[in-house]
Amino acid sequence: MITNEKVWRPDNLHDAWILSSKLSDQCCFVSGGTWLRTQWEAGTKEMAPHLISLDKVPEVKEDISLKGQLGQEEVVIGASTTLAEMITNPTLNEKAPVLVKACKNIAGPSIRNQGTIGGNILSCVGDAIPALIVLNAKLMWFNGDELVYQSIEEWLLNQDEVRDILVSIHIPTDKSKGEHYEFAFYTKVGRRESFIPSLVTVAGTGCYRKGEGIFSHVSLSVGGGNVVPIRLPNTEVKIINNEYSSELLYNVLRQVQQDYKPIDDAFGSAAYKRKVAGNLIVSELYRIGGSNHALE
Ligand SMILES: Cc1cc2nc3c(=O)[nH]c(=O)nc-3n(C[C@H](O)[C@H](O)[C@H](O)COP(=O)(O)OP(=O)(O)OC[C@H]3O[C@@H](n4cnc5c(N)ncnc54)[C@H](O)[C@@H]3O)c2cc1C
Repeated sequence: MITNEKVWRPDNLHDAWILSSKLSDQCCFVSGGTWLRTQWEAGTKEMAPHLISLDKVPEVKEDISLKGQLGQEEVVIGASTTLAEMITNPTLNEKAPVLVKACKNIAGPSIRNQGTIGGNILSCVGDAIPALIVLNAKLMWFNGDELVYQSIEEWLLNQDEVRDILVSIHIPTDKSKGEHYEFAFYTKVGRRESFIPSLVTVAGTGCYRKGEGIFSHVSLSVGGGNVVPIRLPNTEVKIINNEYSSELLYNVLRQVQQDYKPIDDAFGSAAYKRKVAGNLIVSELYRIGGSNHALE
């Protein structure tokens, strides 16, 4: 039986998982430790007697790379990649600039040097999550026996106490399977410009055929504060294959307000956050389509 409190540093996935099974609720995984620290300091989570650092596990530390054959390409990001590394990576800047923008909006440089994309996802309320949702990101987990893939959207619907190890994040960049997008946006609103938790965060990707003024392949997501980010399928339906018009914008505004259910907190009321989310998405659609069509 393991008794002494300590920080464990296994050097492979299997050992990390065995340790976490043995120590059970007496342990937790740690990457950058910035989210855990916030919870310990706020008293919302007790510090576990055993911390399992993943900093020596090679699969989790994998460098950002483009993998797969042409037509089935994906960007693979090791879960321990720091937010600072995400921002400066050329592949990510080329293939998923909306995710880079999201990372730039998280905390300040000192936290971004330490905090990881994996930790941001596992906080369940991280500001990178809306961008990952609209990019159709998949998560690869190690469950003790094998590596399994799960879409981030599916995981967010069922995230309970996580015992598995998040190994990597996979972003499809295949342009022939409807993954192609011509516009992408990400906006975070807080109570001041930077270094502040988000009130509302929205992200979107899609195509807009300028000649016809028609939207297609639209994905939208909203999060912020202590609410788990969600995709907005009902709002997407109001946009996809429809022509840009003021009526479309009004319908979108109404639908976002129906679909998004934030909660009141010390920083803003639920009604205010719903309104901000709707306005942000509508203003992005206006920016994309408005230059082409004068609003009637
Ligand atoms: C001053 C300050 C400002 C901040 N501002 C923001 C902000 O603007 N936006 C924002 O989104 N966040 C913010 N954060 C929160 C945090 O810094 C980020 O979410 C960061 O990305 C968390 O990453 P981490 O590596 O430090 O996570 P950690 O604290 O190491 O871990 C977070 C959670 O994930 C689990 N975990 C970590 N890695 C794995 C893995 N590979 N497999 C399984 N479980 C794992 C841990 O057990 C823990 O439950 C802020 C924090 C601070 C202190």
